[in-house]
Parts: sequence; C-alpha cells; structure tokens
Amino acid sequence: MVERFDVVVVGAGTAGAFASYLLAKNGFRVALLESKSGQEIGVKTCGDGLGLHHVERISRHITPNPKVFQNKIEGVELISPDEKTRLVIKGEGYVLDRFAWGKWLVEEAVKAGAVLYEGHTATTPLVDNGAVVGVRAVERRTGSPKEFAAKVVVDASGSAAVLRSKLAGWPISEPLHPEDVSHAYREIVYVEEPLDSPQYIKIYLDMVTAPGGYWWIFPRSATMLNVGLGIWGILKQNPRTNYERYILPRFKIKGKYHIGGGFIPTRRPLKSLVGNGIVALGDAAAAVNPIHGGGIGQALLTAELASRAISKAFEAGDFSEKALWEYNLLYMREWGYRQAQLDVLRLMLQTLDNDDLNFGLSRKILNEDEIYHLAAKGTNISIVDKLRVMMQFIGRPALLKKLSTSIQYAKEIGDLYLAYPGERAELERWHSRVVDKYNEFREKIGLGPLPAE
Ligand SMILES: Cc1cc2nc3c(=O)[nH]c(=O)nc-3n(C[C@H](O)[C@H](O)[C@H](O)COP(=O)(O)OP(=O)(O)OC[C@H]3O[C@@H](n4cnc5c(N)ncnc54)[C@H](O)[C@@H]3O)c2cc1C
Repeated sequence: MVERFDVVVVGAGTAGAFASYLLAKNGFRVALLESKSGQEIGVKTCGDGLGLHHVERISRHITPNPKVFQNKIEGVELISPDEKTRLVIKGEGYVLDRFAWGKWLVEEAVKAGAVLYEGHTATTPLVDNGAVVGVRAVERRTGSPKEFAAKVVVDASGSAAVLRSKLAGWPISEPLHPEDVSHAYREIVYVEEPLDSPQYIKIYLDMVTAPGGYWWIFPRSATMLNVGLGIWGILKQNPRTNYERYILPRFKIKGKYHIGGGFIPTRRPLKSLVGNGIVALGDAAAAVNPIHGGGIGQALLTAELASRAISKAFEAGDFSEKALWEYNLLYMREWGYRQAQLDVLRLMLQTLDNDDLNFGLSRKILNEDEIYHLAAKGTNISIVDKLRVMMQFIGRPALLKKLSTSIQYAKEIGDLYLAYPGERAELERWHSRVVDKYNEFREKIGLGPLPAE
C-alpha cells in the first residue's frame, strides 16, 4: 500500500524534526520516517554544545523546553598542545541534554501535525520521470516493505545521506571523500574530581591525540563531562584508540552515562542541496561548520531555509529542481559562503604540527577576538595586514605566510560561493571555477589537488 503525503521527511534528528515541525505548522501533510524505535528517538552521539545564536534562531519559531539545556556556557578555553597557553574566547551557549532535546523536537513536530513513523528505515528514493516522487521503506519490527509518495522528499538522514547518495549522476549526490570527514568518538562520564570553570567548554589542540582535529571537554556539570575527539578521516585512525590511550587516563572516572562514535562531514558546501522533488538538510547536506564540526545549528538553519523554499514550491505547484533552487541560493548567501571560507582555514590547520600550534597560540598570532571571528563568522581580511607586520618581528615567516595566504584564499573562495549561480544551467561552469581556485590554494599550502568526485 502506498501512503500519500505532501512531504516525506527521512530522519527525525534535529534537521528532520525541525523541518517537519515548520512544514506541518504551515499546513502541509508531513510524514516523518525514523529508523529508531520510539524510546530511542533523541539518542545521538554528539558533543552537545550549541551556541546561543542558534538557540535564538529556533526561538523565533518555538520556545525550547528549558529541560533541554543542561549547562549554560560563557565561552571556550582554547588550549595549546603543550598546555602552556590557554586562550579564553567569550561566547555564550549551552551544553544540551541531547536526549531531551531530540525527544522534545520530535514531540513538537508531532503536536504540529506531522505523522511519525518510528522504526521505519527508508531504503531508496522512488524516482519517476527524472523526479523523486517518494521513498521506499521497511518497517523494522515486521520487516514489511512500504512506500510513501510525496511531492517533496527531504533527506535528513544524517551523515549517511541515504537518499541523496543513491541519485547517481545528480549534482545533489556528490559523495563525501575521506578527506572531508572527521571520525569522532566521545563518552559522557561522571568524574570524581570536579572540573575547574565548568561554565567554559575546553578545546585542546594536539596533533598527536587528535591529528587534524581536536579533543574536547564539554561539561554538563562540574562532574558530568562530555569528553571526546575528532580525527581527520583521511588518516584512517580509530578515535577510540586515541581516546583510551591519551584522554581517559587524565580522569578518575566514577561511571559512564553514554559512549559512542560517528563521523562528521567537515567540508565546503555540496555543489547543490536540491534535485527534482528532493532537498537535503543538516549532516545529509554536509552543512556542518568545517572548523569545529558543530552541526546542530546548521541542522536548524537548513530546516528553516528548506521549509521556506518548499512552501514556495507548493504555492507555485512546481516541485522541480528549478523551483527548489531557491534553497541553494538562501543557503549559500546565509551560511554556505562562510562554510567555504572556514573549509579553507580547516585545510590549512590540518597541515600544522604541534610546534606550529604552540608557537601560534603562545605568540597570539591571532588574538581571542580574531579567533572567535574566524571560527564563528568566517574570514577577516584585515588580519592579513597584521600578519604581514608580524612577519618582520616574530619569526616563522613560513607559518605566517601560510596563514595569510589561507585567509586571502578564504575570502576569494567565499566570494565565489556568494556568486552561486541563479540557475542549474550555470552550475558546472561555476563549480569548475571553485575547483580551480581550491587547487590553486591547495598547491600553495602543500596539498595535492582536490580528490576526484
Ligand atoms: C561525536 C560527535 C560530536 C559532535 N559534537 C557536536 C557539538 O558539540 N555541537 C554541534 O553543534 N554538533 C556536534 N556534532 C554534529 C551534530 O551532532 C550533527 O551535525 C547534527 O546532529 C546533525 O543533525 P541531523 O538532524 O542532520 O542528523 P542526525 O542527528 O544524525 O539525525 C539523522 C536521523 O536520521 C535517522 N536515519 C538515518 N538513516 C535513516 C533511514 N535510512 N531511514 C530513517 N531514518 C534514518 C537517524 O536514526 C537519525 O535519527 C557532533 C557529532 C559527533 C558525531
């Protein structure tokens, strides 16, 4: 039997649940398919950190249940590999009770009218005449196949991107290369000795413990800590091994609340987030901040922007790639260009060693405000002039040159994303300019050309 809806959303994580809420609230008939069974909904392996600006964004639509906020955060302590330098970067946010957050969002989607199909795993998009017209799924409990028909299908299935990845040849199907993912592992632990200043999350840069990434302590309280690490995917190292070898021995553990791993897309935006009858959101759209791997805020953002474009498509009665293209434009202008800038800086950081990082942080090559600006908002070209002056006084010209080159390229590549094409016909020409610019940059910092798609 075929179930018919206006929109079928696959994945009831942050992105899928929020999109379902917004669309159902707007009067559309929404099916929300989730692989997990009822009591598992909300479980997600994550660092659980969320900046205040993201909370403000969702609060424009719905007031979060206060129970979802576990710890109020005032900023970040950024710690050098030798642990001699500790920069304190102000910026408010929360460590979430992630289970409560996930459950709350799904409950709100259902209250708004979305129909939840828990324990349903989507397997393939249904394609007819070059357009996605629904999904095929399996009900896990019975093993019975089902079909869901819809005008628009939303892939919010997380980093596995189960639907868009099956649309070979469509721009939306761009695969994730190991260079563009981070392998992460984290535990939520109870510790005997209370952590100093639990109102600050701690980020440790250390290319031995977390090569091409970082390790973290995100406190849920002084004695309940989310501790984990992310490692650059291309290195093919198991993050759990490094966690057990380097991080765990630093704590006296009383007990463990939850353990788990996952992978995070940390890259430039996908070339397109839409196709005929389909859009991708959140991790399925690789919308994560490539510098720090935070993606909850981007899951909310993509849900909001895509819902806007989907509503317009319904007004026009047109669900083609052309009609949904608006989502690409909204995305690139609001976040995609900054994501691309941050991706350039991410690649540069991944080429540094502990010596570079100790030097850079201790000499404050970038001060706290500049680091905040770069990580949260994208590039700041005025830093290039400062670096030029610094080169004359503090040594390490090669490092400073690399940094200043990267900031310059981040600006140029960000500008290319701001000039994202208004229509599909121009996509390939635009994309080849992006690839050329990336390759020019990569050669300058000693990386090979972009991996082939
Ligand atoms: C270890 C780790 C630490 C992180 N730390 C942070 C952090 O501190 N702050 C931050 O902002 N971000 C962090 N992130 C990233 C963040 O968790 C994600 O970016 C965010 O949760 C993405 O939300 P989403 O809704 O797109 O995907 P998800 O939350 O992954 O949701 C996808 C949903 O789809 C379901 N699904 C998958 N396949 C199917 C299928 N075939 N059929 C039906 N349902 C399906 C899944 O069960 C899941 O519920 C971290 C990630 C990891 C792995």
